[in-house]
Amino acid sequence: MKLVIDNLSKTYANGVKALQNVSLEIPTGMFGLLGPNGAGKSTLMRTIATLQDADEGKILLGDINVQTNKHSLRKVLGYLPQQFGLYPKISAEMLLHHFAVLKGIAHAGERKELVGALLQKTNLYDARKRHLGGFSGGMKQRFGIAQALLNSPKLLIVDEPTAGLDPKERNRFHNLLSEIAENIIVVLSTHIVDDVRELCTQMAIINQGQVVLKGNPLKLMEGLQGKVYQKTINPSELKSYITHYNVINDKRFLGKPRIQIISDVPPGDGFLAIDTSLEAVYFSQINHQN
Ligand code: ADP
Repeated sequence: MKLVIDNLSKTYANGVKALQNVSLEIPTGMFGLLGPNGAGKSTLMRTIATLQDADEGKILLGDINVQTNKHSLRKVLGYLPQQFGLYPKISAEMLLHHFAVLKGIAHAGERKELVGALLQKTNLYDARKRHLGGFSGGMKQRFGIAQALLNSPKLLIVDEPTAGLDPKERNRFHNLLSEIAENIIVVLSTHIVDDVRELCTQMAIINQGQVVLKGNPLKLMEGLQGKVYQKTINPSELKSYITHYNVINDKRFLGKPRIQIISDVPPGDGFLAIDTSLEAVYFSQINHQN
């Protein structure tokens, strides 16, 4: 099964071009959609999830035309939106049962088995009687995944799921997504480069509504091998370096700007070659655009 996005465009009423001719082919496995805030990620996620319409273009999941057959798509879709509300005074187990009823799983025995299995899968079984209001951010996200898996989806969309999670919870959440992506298409939208580096076999970078790069993260990194150089400079020199070099990053390190540049030839001038990284790939694209 493949998710095909073909020439999708969306302009909001205020004139913002949130998507401009976006085309992607997304196979089974984990696909990362990476981009800064405002890039158009949520617009794309919501459009795939049939929650809003594009102005132009087509989306196909296998042979389902997503725009003309929303009902069929929803039956095989799991969606974890960027923000979702939970009833704070209900236990995880009860709310999952409730969602299962809403999703049409009418047989009580089948429901019990499914809810139990999903609580186990998301590592929430021991907390199943606890009220959701007392859950940590990571537990809430895992509950969100449990509810998204109730209908055994063929496509799971997760929008910025690791924002605000501590490192341990993030790892746990990554492992869960990886396991799920063994069998279905998982589209992960994020502005966190490490999420994509650690998880995704295919990715796209989106900026200002346009896909600026797509492919396998390791291959994309190989494309920059030997071209990334680094140097620590004084703050007052930054402007001049930005004028003279293709600076992709100026993150401060121990109080001083440590700039990274891309150069096809060794720049000299005290720069040292460093290993390429997905962060370098990302910033090389994002800075080009801005
Ligand atoms: P991301 O998820 O990458 O942060 P969004 O898809 O939320 O990006 O937003 C893309 C652009 O569209 C932004 O400039 C945002 O302000 C704008 N936008 C999003 N939703 C709406 C809306 N309902 N009406 C008008 N503009 C919107």
